[in-house]
Amino acid sequence: MTLPGPGIPEPPAQFFSAHPSRADSFTESVIREMTRLALKHNAINLAQGFPDFPCPPELKAAACEAINADINQYAITWGAKDLREALAARVQKFNGMSFDPEDEITVTCGSTEAMMASMLALISPGDEVVVPEPFYENYGPDAQISGATPHFVPLKDDFSLDEEKWKDAFSEKTRAVILNSPNNPTGKVFSKQELSFIADLCIEHNAVAITDEIYEHIVYDGHRHVSLGSLPGMEDRTITIGSFSKTYSVTGWRVGYTLADTALTSRIRKIHDFLTVGAPAPLQRACVAALQLPESYYKELAGEYDRKRRTLFAGLKKAGFWCELPQGAYYIFTDISSFGMTDTAFARHLIETVGVAAVPGSSFYHKGGETKLRFTFSKKDGTLTEACTRLERLG
Ligand code: PLP
Repeated sequence: MTLPGPGIPEPPAQFFSAHPSRADSFTESVIREMTRLALKHNAINLAQGFPDFPCPPELKAAACEAINADINQYAITWGAKDLREALAARVQKFNGMSFDPEDEITVTCGSTEAMMASMLALISPGDEVVVPEPFYENYGPDAQISGATPHFVPLKDDFSLDEEKWKDAFSEKTRAVILNSPNNPTGKVFSKQELSFIADLCIEHNAVAITDEIYEHIVYDGHRHVSLGSLPGMEDRTITIGSFSKTYSVTGWRVGYTLADTALTSRIRKIHDFLTVGAPAPLQRACVAALQLPESYYKELAGEYDRKRRTLFAGLKKAGFWCELPQGAYYIFTDISSFGMTDTAFARHLIETVGVAAVPGSSFYHKGGETKLRFTFSKKDGTLTEACTRLERLG
């Protein structure tokens, strides 16, 4: 689905037939397109998941210090040693997994590159990847670019696993499963029991799990994040993807990472090197400072988002949306059936006449999702209150 707008210009029609390309098989990101529309109409952007509040001051100071200390040339392609060592320590403590910083950790340009590099490293054209639906919109194009055939498995209405559908989805062609927990857009936090079920399927079918855990510190109501790679038998068949973007409110820094055993890592590193050479060197140094923040930082982060989640939830309910409080991440996935418009038309209406941007549900499905809309609450309290006031205009 694409909306007309000042996005990426389309080449002339004859160019397509003469030069077909893998880029023709997917559209521009709807989320980023919504951001542009929001800017055009001066709407509050609850579409793209980035904070409009500052990152911790310690990170800003560390980044400036690194630049002033002349850490401005290429870092080692797979990541600065001090950052890989700090990551190994943090992951051991928080995720209960051991990785050797020398050959099992790769620093990437965000988790976006981490996912792309992992898929390119793993997939041969024709391999199947199992993807629970709804899914973070990048996974569709990631599959197309890497040549994978995605096998989408719908989650149940309460976002739990339909075990029979999962069993049916795996075959001898399955190379990987792509999981995201805590989940964007649903807010689902997969339980240890659900993850064990997925782990057993991976082991039975000799598949790899690529698990995007970028919201690992943003969980609510006593839900606990469990890393799929920490489960027995998954150590050498999991690529765990993390990022500094969401945990430390630095989405523009573009620093993420992969954690995987030596064999997987050596392939990922080769792809990563030729894709990007490396993540920004001074920001890698600043990310070491991020990992030195006290434990209280993570508690406060989840507490702040809990408050924001409740503010937006109350506003959406008041405006007539059907929704439930998410278990994790920073989105509310609403049902808009009662408004009598499909997602794209409704998203446009919201931007142009109400002044609030959200993401049409269909961007999280290969088919369907037209009755859904996703809002982020990764914004200042004032931004959320103003958005809720504007949403009242809908009534
Ligand atoms: N994965 C998920 C599930 C996301 O929601 C996002 C951003 O919204 C990303 C990855 C992108 O993260 P990064 O900034 O680390 O590339």
